[in-house]
Amino acid sequence: MEQSYINTKEYLSIREELQAQQVALVAVSKTKPVEAIQEAYQLGQRIFGENRALELRDKYEVLPKDIEWHMIGHLQTNKVKYIAPFVHLIHSIDKISLLKEVNKRAAQNNRVIDVLIQVHIAEEASKHGFDETELFQLLQETNLETLPNINIIGLMGMATFTSDQDQVKQEFQHLQRLFEQVKTTAFEAKEDFNVLSMGMSGDYLTAIQQGSNMVRLGSIIFGAR
Ligand SMILES: *Cc1c(COP(=O)(O)O)cnc(C)c1O
Repeated sequence: MEQSYINTKEYLSIREELQAQQVALVAVSKTKPVEAIQEAYQLGQRIFGENRALELRDKYEVLPKDIEWHMIGHLQTNKVKYIAPFVHLIHSIDKISLLKEVNKRAAQNNRVIDVLIQVHIAEEASKHGFDETELFQLLQETNLETLPNINIIGLMGMATFTSDQDQVKQEFQHLQRLFEQVKTTAFEAKEDFNVLSMGMSGDYLTAIQQGSNMVRLGSIIFGAR
């Protein structure tokens, strides 16, 4: 290999630590070339996350078909069609209209697509997602039986970008509580509602302490973007 994109030792040690705690690792490869993904694939990584639909589609087309592709970034409704044929999990459902569009495109592809509802837990207004009230409104007022081609399997959230780990901890704790609340109320009988996607390179250890079972790591694996 001519150029290395990954710090192999660090990647393997993070992966081992996550495995021991039964936390799934989404390797966030956005902006990185196909070769970087191939290198991680050679090391055994199979779950990759991207935040742009067309970049995701282009990478899917040239890479091994046993990769599980996760859409982690803001998704415009008019881009859903590009990823609906193959996407494994969409983390970033932030509007009911998006949920409906995913359902429609999944149906056209004879699929049921797993999704997470993104919850706005950060203080920055720039981050997407439902707030607590909207989340419960969605679960109470939307007749999910009319959306048979989507399957809600959990929640996703992003903490405020701050060095204040106490604030980050509180935001993750808030999301963890919402997750438990949804699980024991709206989805009481739904056994596969069990993904709590929270934590990035800078805050994943805090996220795991607060109950995350899926982390999305980019720069700590692939280097700065
Ligand atoms: C880019 C991104 C990540 C990964 O960020 P790092 O800080 O590089 O680990 C995780 N989640 C989302 C939604 C992202 O857009």
